[in-house]
Amino acid sequence: MDDCIFCKIAKGSIPCNKIYEDGELLAFHDLNPQAPLHFLVIPKKHIPNVMELESADAPLLGRLLHKAQELAAGLGCAETGARFVINCKADGGQTVDHLHCHVLGGRALGWPPG
Ligand code: 5GP
Ligand code: ZN
Repeated sequence: MDDCIFCKIAKGSIPCNKIYEDGELLAFHDLNPQAPLHFLVIPKKHIPNVMELESADAPLLGRLLHKAQELAAGLGCAETGARFVINCKADGGQTVDHLHCHVLGGRALGWPPG
């Protein structure tokens, strides 16, 4: 999508602090980190949010979550854990309409969210 900031990051037209990239996925540090470790994993395909997932997207989302786990583990969270979050639309607090999984680690996080 032409006006989507994460599509632009995926295409390389907007820079990011990249952690991982392959043909389908990209992981990069969040611009406004909420924990000592805070990165995002996105599909390069423009999927607006979880409500718009189709069954054909299931393998991609499975890969995305597994990659998020691998990266979090490699960045020091294997023993201490992390939070894997996908915000969805207004009530979910989504601000960028390109599906992304937040990975937050490096400190204990509160629950429930405010
Ligand atoms: P959401 O609120 O949609 O779940 O999360 C969007 C996240 O994207 C926020 O944590 C925000 O800090 C991050 N973000 C927004 N624009 C950019 C950007 O241009 N670069 C990076 N690295 N992160 C961004
Ligand atoms: Zn997009």
